[in-house]
Amino acid sequence: MAKPEEKQVGFTVPPLPYPFDALEPYIDARTMEIHHDKHHGAYVANLNKALEGHADLQAKSLDDLLKNLDSIPENIRTAVRNNAGGHWNHSLFWTQMKKGGGGEPKGDLAAAIKSAFGSFADFQAKFAAAALGRFGSGWAWLVVKDGKLAIDSTPNQDTPYMLNAKAVLGLDVWEHAYYLKYQNLRGDYIKAWWSVVNWDSAADQYAKAKK
Ligand code: MN
Repeated sequence: MAKPEEKQVGFTVPPLPYPFDALEPYIDARTMEIHHDKHHGAYVANLNKALEGHADLQAKSLDDLLKNLDSIPENIRTAVRNNAGGHWNHSLFWTQMKKGGGGEPKGDLAAAIKSAFGSFADFQAKFAAAALGRFGSGWAWLVVKDGKLAIDSTPNQDTPYMLNAKAVLGLDVWEHAYYLKYQNLRGDYIKAWWSVVNWDSAADQYAKAKK
């Protein structure tokens, strides 16, 4: 057992909830390994580094940090925004995919999508357009904003908090998420990603957002 002074401080990368190759052939194992271990790992390491010497901030939750970026000292605010955001976005992203995923949502979320966008196909087209249209690096989102479902996107590692919204479903469209397998063909990656979406996770997020 670790002695108290050896206790790890700071944020840690959550384990991937499935093997690296679980999402094959849609998302390849090598991409998942690098994406989770190296990219997500770096966001967490850089967040912890930015918070060094700030015991008050280290005691806060990830959500609290991201909801109150204005209160972060200016010299570390950008580092916290980018790396806390990267940690938050990826921690959700891993849970929103699974082997044998895809298909369509059920229950309340399915009804809300139909009501907001007309049909599931219309929703998919609009979400894919947001993902394709995000210039450079960022995320496409299905969110609850002002009590209603909406589609939006964020640059870099900005989270739905920056949209004053709550995340239902997020898609990473940074090149690191797809370049090894799809190169410049972001549209092919988006199309493939629908086959691994974990709609149970999205439904949980929707239920939380509506509370
Ligand atoms: Mn990523």
